[in-house]
Amino acid sequence: MIPALEYRTPESLEEALDLLERHGEEAKVLAGGHGLIPALKLRLAAPRVLVDLRRVPGLSSIEPLPEGGDGFVVGALVTHREIEVSPLVRARCPLLAEVAGAIGDAQVRNFGTLAGSLCHADPAADYPAVLLALDAEAVVASRRGERRVSAGELVQGVFETALEPDEIVRSVRFPGPHFAAAAYSKARQAASGFALAGAAAHLKLDGRRATDIAVGITGVAARPFRAAGVEDALRGQELSPEAVEAAVRGLAAGRELTSDIHASAEYRARLAEVHAKRAILRAAERGSAGA
Ligand SMILES: Cc1cc2nc3c(=O)[nH]c(=O)nc-3n(C[C@H](O)[C@H](O)[C@H](O)COP(=O)(O)OP(=O)(O)OC[C@H]3O[C@@H](n4cnc5c(N)ncnc54)[C@H](O)[C@@H]3O)c2cc1C
Repeated sequence: MIPALEYRTPESLEEALDLLERHGEEAKVLAGGHGLIPALKLRLAAPRVLVDLRRVPGLSSIEPLPEGGDGFVVGALVTHREIEVSPLVRARCPLLAEVAGAIGDAQVRNFGTLAGSLCHADPAADYPAVLLALDAEAVVASRRGERRVSAGELVQGVFETALEPDEIVRSVRFPGPHFAAAAYSKARQAASGFALAGAAAHLKLDGRRATDIAVGITGVAARPFRAAGVEDALRGQELSPEAVEAAVRGLAAGRELTSDIHASAEYRARLAEVHAKRAILRAAERGSAGA
């Protein structure tokens, strides 16, 4: 059972921000509810006021970035399903559409939002690896103004973010300039579909040589991270399977890894290597095919 709480449905972003300012830590934002409602039922969260964003206008669209290029911005209420079928996302960043289409089941995809997933900070969520690899950033609003926070900074730990209690993520920006050479690979937890380990790669290519590379990892630690050692080893290199295999070895070394009934820390570390290699080689293939 969910403890009694006040349910508010503001009609504007300003009204929602006023409510958060007034109620501080006692308030929680509600988007798709597919992270928060289970957390309320499990008493992992017990807000006194629920601020439902669903009537707030201006948060439900996917738009090109005004400055041009391939970049785009996803509003806070855009669902996984809307991302999956968006012609703009499919044309500019097929990887994001593909990842959105593989989350949970149809019901989760019809309600859950990208921004909600980021703010929920579930260590097994899929998007964080992708958002890190694509250098995405959250546009965060409060009565004090607006700021941008990179996805890597926003997620601080298990269900922990860098958001202040009075802040709302109004959108997530994908700056580009291009997203063709990108891929995600994960080991699915058999019952839930969440990532035991997931890796996303985003490349800039000159033929088969990576002129730049970003690799995001999720599922293996409390916080998603960029595999900086892999990136350094492969930047400027030909992406042969052998070179990639050597570069991903030990990518999680020195980190405190999750160990639970689903997978040991050692197993997760190996899964991260395997899926990083797959993501990098798949991204290279896609980039070469599109060149
Ligand atoms: C059965 C099931 C299977 C799932 N499978 C997967 C899976 O395979 N992969 C995966 O990655 N995820 C999976 N999920 C999680 C799913 O993606 C959720 O939708 C997502 O984690 C939360 O998004 P939401 O919009 O429902 O957020 P909510 O549940 O509404 O909110 C989640 C948290 O974020 C905060 N929040 C939400 N929006 C904002 C905002 N704009 N600004 C500030 N704070 C905000 C809320 O206060 C709350 O703390 C699954 C969930 C379920 C129930």
